[in-house]
Amino acid sequence: FDYVKDFDPEVAKAMEDELGRQRNNLELIASENLVSEAVMAAMGSHLTNKYAEGYPGKRYYGGCQYVDVVENLAIERAKELFGCEYVNIQPHSGAQANMAVFFAVMNLGDTYMGMNLDHGGHLTHGSPVNMSGKNYHCVPYGVNDEGVIDYDKVREIALECHPKMIIAGASAYARKIDFKRMREIADEVGAVLMVDMAHIAGLVAAGLHESPIPYAHVTTTTTHKTLRGPRGGMILSSDEVNKKYNFNKAIFPGIQGGPLMHVIAAKAVCLKEALTPEFKEYQKQIVKNASVLADALIERGFDIVSGGTDNHLMLVDLRKMGLTGKDMEKLLDSVHITCNKNTVPNDPQSPFVTSGLRLGTPAVTSRGLKEEDMVQIAEAIKLTIIDRKLEEAEAIVKSLTEKYPIYESIKY
Ligand code: PLP
Repeated sequence: FDYVKDFDPEVAKAMEDELGRQRNNLELIASENLVSEAVMAAMGSHLTNKYAEGYPGKRYYGGCQYVDVVENLAIERAKELFGCEYVNIQPHSGAQANMAVFFAVMNLGDTYMGMNLDHGGHLTHGSPVNMSGKNYHCVPYGVNDEGVIDYDKVREIALECHPKMIIAGASAYARKIDFKRMREIADEVGAVLMVDMAHIAGLVAAGLHESPIPYAHVTTTTTHKTLRGPRGGMILSSDEVNKKYNFNKAIFPGIQGGPLMHVIAAKAVCLKEALTPEFKEYQKQIVKNASVLADALIERGFDIVSGGTDNHLMLVDLRKMGLTGKDMEKLLDSVHITCNKNTVPNDPQSPFVTSGLRLGTPAVTSRGLKEEDMVQIAEAIKLTIIDRKLEEAEAIVKSLTEKYPIYESIKY
């Protein structure tokens, strides 16, 4: 950081302010986390200098012998962690991993099914503004009135539209996903099952959510959510399926150029962390914390979509209170609680306004917060949204952020 400060005080100031924000706010954005110093150090390293188009042992540049070691370590660790035969560790992001699978499996204009964005799906699963909706024909599926995936309806739609591919996976879905059922539906209509486990990858690694690997033809993920690694993506599959679709070719030269070797090094470090018993305990705590937070919010008068959570996140439904996600995100930010507005199923508001909030526990759990602290957070949320006692809410947040400091080794 001193190097940045000496040369570029403007960027240094914004970086310092952001560190202050991370230290002083309670981070409840379900897709965010706090990486270890080791992950951060690998990411901010000289490995960024290296061009390594291609794959270990088959590169288009010289001098790749050491980055080959790094990439092979990352691949082998991912295979061990998730119990699969094939891994591509190069996707620059979750969106890139998904795009590569589309590119490998489908032709332009082909029909596929993905979860409706308004029901918890991701932008890259068929939104009309994304390449997945512009270049391919998406027939969406969603949740029932209880906020749970309607598998019978998924089957009905699949039998009608004969998709080439079905995507299971979501960005705002608090219940376990039945991958076995999704595979049965895919098999019945001859579709490829792609699972996007971005949100739950850490839970899957720790055995707290059923693994998609035995059921999906291909699985994609990000590495920066519950998995607690650097921003990036991965593709996982079997040798047999990969032989048919060649996912390596879809990533490079299909949609990417040179891999980010510094990020791949950080992925390797993150995967080593994920193989430890401590990681498993951490994931267990994420789930416990989410469950306690959901219960404590319900006790305080909030509606939670589907009545609770099985994983690391929950959706607060503000419709009964006549409030919008947009306004409440802003109000919570004013007391240093960070979260994001989110549509709820059948939301009357636009995606920019919304009637919901998505809350998740991966980042606060990384900080060390436990069940009793979740009750405090629920109380701070109630004081903010229902009682409008902002100073009292802020005092609770301050006591928690001071009790659980982060990145003390980073000196600014
Ligand atoms: N897939 C899912 C299910 C996600 O929730 C996200 C991000 O929120 C992505 C893919 C995209 O990841 P990225 O932001 O790295 O492109």
